[in-house]
Amino acid sequence: MKPNPASPETDSRPRIRLLKGYSKRLRQGNPWLYSNELVMDDAARAVPPGALVELVDAGDERLGVATFNPHSLIAGRRLTAAPDAAIDRDFFVERLTRALSLRETCYDTPCYRLIHSEADHLPGLIVDRFGEVLVCQLNSAGMDRLSEVIVAALDALLAPRAIVLRGDSPIRSLEGLEPTIRVAKGELDGPVALSETGVTLLADPLAGQKTGWYFDQRDNRDFVARLCAGRSLLDAFCYSGGFALRGAAAGARTVLGIDRSEAALTLAGQAAERNGLAGNSRFRRADALEALARFDTEHERFDVVVADPPSFVKARRDLKGGLRAYRKLARLAARVTAPSGFIALASCSHHVDAAAFGEAVARGVADAGRHGRIIRNAGAGPDHPIHPALPESAYLKFLVLALD
Ligand code: SAH
Repeated sequence: MKPNPASPETDSRPRIRLLKGYSKRLRQGNPWLYSNELVMDDAARAVPPGALVELVDAGDERLGVATFNPHSLIAGRRLTAAPDAAIDRDFFVERLTRALSLRETCYDTPCYRLIHSEADHLPGLIVDRFGEVLVCQLNSAGMDRLSEVIVAALDALLAPRAIVLRGDSPIRSLEGLEPTIRVAKGELDGPVALSETGVTLLADPLAGQKTGWYFDQRDNRDFVARLCAGRSLLDAFCYSGGFALRGAAAGARTVLGIDRSEAALTLAGQAAERNGLAGNSRFRRADALEALARFDTEHERFDVVVADPPSFVKARRDLKGGLRAYRKLARLAARVTAPSGFIALASCSHHVDAAAFGEAVARGVADAGRHGRIIRNAGAGPDHPIHPALPESAYLKFLVLALD
């Protein structure tokens, strides 16, 4: 093993002080520190964005090490409660090892989210694993600054063929970070294959959405696939065919996937070919809501309808309109579902809680004049753990209804 590269600030970390009375949440395990909970004096404001700092409470008690960005509303993200911890390769190897052990317990193929930020005790970092290819999202100035030790740790633990650093998520702008995408190790020449319950799927780690794949829906795809044998499936907002191809492989009679991204649909088509499923699967570029409305007026019906849209509520102020949009989507999906069929609806917006989403779906189904029973009420899989002190980390809601 190469020597353990130390992080630049190990010895001389600036001290950031919590305001009196504001250390309770941190002590209870919430790693976030808002800028209005901290002493933001000239020294604090001069700390370079993303630097490691030592946290102390109003009485000088040492509370651990955080990454700090004076320009962000979430100014501090605590990495460890141990005040003298070195934040170096071995620190990351230890956290990665724990995360890996959980995934290896839950999955039999090495395709999953390996690090899910706060819940895996690495706030601001996401790592998705496509076998020998790892794709990281560096979503905070702190993780961006630590990218070299992160790459060294991933390399030490997994010796992957390639490591991609995706720095193009919109949340980076809140941290004052520029968009960037680079291959930090190895080479990549196009899409990578991943495997889900025996089906080969294709993702583009460099140009695909997010890290290239939506691993969060994997368990939900397992569930929906079981409903599809002998039935027709409509996968609205299909991306690269996750639900569509899992349904096709499970014996769906016909499959139609709809998305507005040509690049995503191309990969869906190629994956269909690879699995010998091209005969009964079609992928079409369209606006999914318009397509659903058209199927409704043309009386085209499907036995299973999946609708997994992008977030309709990107900011809290959009909540009301977003809930109306989920209700409308549920209505349209229920309208085009055949008698005794199934609808599966998802929301990935962390501003929408499960109760509000459930209500929007129930109303939409009723608006369509349909009745149903909820047969699955789920979230993301265990590779997207929920931080117990951060309810918003339970962002995914997934409901399946058996309609009458
Ligand atoms: N179900 C997918 C993930 C869907 S992500 C999976 O399991 O992998 C949401 C998708 O909606 C993206 O692929 C995006 O391209 C697509 N999309 C966004 N707006 C759309 C619209 N108006 N019509 C159709 N597709 C849309």
